[in-house]
Amino acid sequence: MRLTTIGTGTAAPTPGRVQSGHLVEAGRVRLLMDCGSGVTTRLADLGLRWQEITHVAITHFHADHVVDLPTILYAWRYGQLPPRSAPLAIIGPVGTLKLLSGFASIFGQGLLSLGFPISVHEFAPGSESALGDDVTLRCVKVPHTNESMAYSVERHGRRIVYTGDTGPDDLLGRWAEGCDVLLAECSLPDSMAIATHLTPTQCGALGAAAQPGVLALTHFYPPVEAVDIRGEVGAQFSGTVALATDGWTLDLEER
Ligand SMILES: [Zn+2]
Ligand SMILES: [Zn+2]
Repeated sequence: MRLTTIGTGTAAPTPGRVQSGHLVEAGRVRLLMDCGSGVTTRLADLGLRWQEITHVAITHFHADHVVDLPTILYAWRYGQLPPRSAPLAIIGPVGTLKLLSGFASIFGQGLLSLGFPISVHEFAPGSESALGDDVTLRCVKVPHTNESMAYSVERHGRRIVYTGDTGPDDLLGRWAEGCDVLLAECSLPDSMAIATHLTPTQCGALGAAAQPGVLALTHFYPPVEAVDIRGEVGAQFSGTVALATDGWTLDLEER
């Protein structure tokens, strides 16, 4: 399995960081988790085969996680020759169908009839689904918006967990326990802590609870980049920490 952080930014325009989006390549599965502004173009910047994405999973409905969905849907129809024919699965919380029909009401119904099959799967928290080729996707509710979920992607003994946007949550730490990579949001400095995002100290506590092989941090608002993220995380968690950038990649050899 391979994880590539495509977009490590937020709602705040930040040089070098587009909004949220992360690619997991596992067997024949190409899973894009979140699709914020700039993610489609960044996939191309990084030379990644956006044409071959098989699944898109959305953590929640904030614009910085979903607003590039129409962009990538149209890219598959009008941005490649020949146009896409392979099926696409879109996964998300309850409300994903409404989100997509909302986009279609703005951009036209053609958005969802592009000449390739699109299936939409609304996951309740706790759901588990086989994506094909031995890849399992699971989700758990996290404290951010009502619908917000974290995802776990597993194949052949390896596990990647992506928190999406979340506040501190003991259950999330236990749920992620022992994963190979914990990709966690790190939005705000401790001095600006709120219940619905994580600070470096809280990311460290999450890492201490989950004990991942690598704690990779993403979703940085500019004020958090002004503090010693590594030092503050390291005071809580002694394992490996990575500060993700757009294009950061980690390969996990399957067992
Ligand atoms: Zn966000
Ligand atoms: Zn959010």
